Amino acid sequence: MLEGLPIKIDIMEMNIRPIFDKKPGKPIVIAGPCSAETEEQVLKAAHDLAKQGNVDLFRSGIWKPRTRPNAFEGVGAVGLGWLKKVKEETGMKVTTEVANQQHVYEALKFGIDVLWLGARTTVNPFSVQEVADAIKGVDVPVLIKNPINPDLKLWIGAIERIYKAGVTKIGVIHRGFSYHGQTQYRNVPRWQIPIELKRQFPQIEIICDNSHICGRRDTLLSVAQKAMDLNFDGVMTEVHPTPDDAWSDAAQQITPLQFGELLNQLQIRVTSTDDPEYKDTIDHLRHEIDEIDDEMLNILGRRMQLSEKIGEYKKRNNITILQSARWGEILEKATTLGKIKGLSEEFVGVILKAIHQESINHQEKIMSSEDVSKGA
Ligand code: PEP
Ligand code: MN
Repeated sequence: MLEGLPIKIDIMEMNIRPIFDKKPGKPIVIAGPCSAETEEQVLKAAHDLAKQGNVDLFRSGIWKPRTRPNAFEGVGAVGLGWLKKVKEETGMKVTTEVANQQHVYEALKFGIDVLWLGARTTVNPFSVQEVADAIKGVDVPVLIKNPINPDLKLWIGAIERIYKAGVTKIGVIHRGFSYHGQTQYRNVPRWQIPIELKRQFPQIEIICDNSHICGRRDTLLSVAQKAMDLNFDGVMTEVHPTPDDAWSDAAQQITPLQFGELLNQLQIRVTSTDDPEYKDTIDHLRHEIDEIDDEMLNILGRRMQLSEKIGEYKKRNNITILQSARWGEILEKATTLGKIKGLSEEFVGVILKAIHQESINHQEKIMSSEDVSKGA
């Protein structure tokens, strides 16, 4: 092998271990204020949460990555002493966000149990590498939030960088993705991205940060429930003794009491059961789904054959591939039919656009081939 070439890591061979000792039927719970503001506030939040007895890890930001410089940027290293007190007084393990070498050194000095990488760090490989280099040689557990943009590779890249530094206990936190448009979310969840991550890393613990997805209190439960229904391992929620007074993210924080109620309302489902009747029914329904999926692919194959025929015909007549008006008609018709069939406009749009693109690709292949008769 050539000197200096980066070592390739095979995802399948990564031996990532769980951070938490997860009990069946109970989600992993990470909770605490967005930011450590005062010693009193941190300890009050911690004691109130500890009383509930179901918190696995107490969170609090010490260094806050704020969008604009004049916002509260965290209390800094002094807050680490407060987290140490939380450990001593409540017995709960603690975690804080680290974004550079200095943060890592300080956090480790104060015995922070788990480090977390924020969304604005995961997005930047230089920062992730700096954190990874600072951690090297210390097998401290690390939680990695998704990058702010919906790029699964960046998220995986951060896992690989931290793993290469010798960290074996790694978990991930899904906190949603930036979106410039009207939405009910502060950060849109795009559930398919964490689902794909879980497919590639089945052993990794995946936590839903409902606070940063929602950005508001009234939807925290439904997003946490959705995560549980998607078999996420746990939740990370921002909890503050007096949320309205919080120095950061006030709109999304809840009191320890409200958090306790949220946890009580969560329905935790199992991934399977030995009940033979369930197995029979589910097998039957899955068989039907598989048949429909096969049928859909057969139909799509036939549709593309027709697209190629059209491509040949257009080529012979020197006509452009894209016919905007016709495409508009197809989309409109499909949206109307979709609605009747109970399919959302968004879904029909995504499917139709993908089919249209594939159809264009097939026609382009025909257009650029040397001879129409051979291509037929
Ligand atoms: C946080 O957890 O307080 C935080 C800053 O989150 P994120 O990195 O997800 O924005
Ligand atoms: Mn926050």
